[in-house]
Amino acid sequence: MEEKQQEEIDLDKVYDYADYREKVSGRCDNCNSAYFKSSVKSGIFLRECRECGMKKSI
Ligand SMILES: [Zn+2]
Repeated sequence: MEEKQQEEIDLDKVYDYADYREKVSGRCDNCNSAYFKSSVKSGIFLRECRECGMKKSI
């Protein structure tokens, strides 16, 4: 039987919200923080975790 490895979060990568839905809504998948900073880059809404720096495009 194959064991599923837990996916590691790459903090240099920008995750796509469509592919990586939140496990808990409004919380970081990596550190479970609810504090984010948001920015818009070339029309893409970017949400970055204030704790660990995980980035997600929404
Ligand atoms: Zn985080």
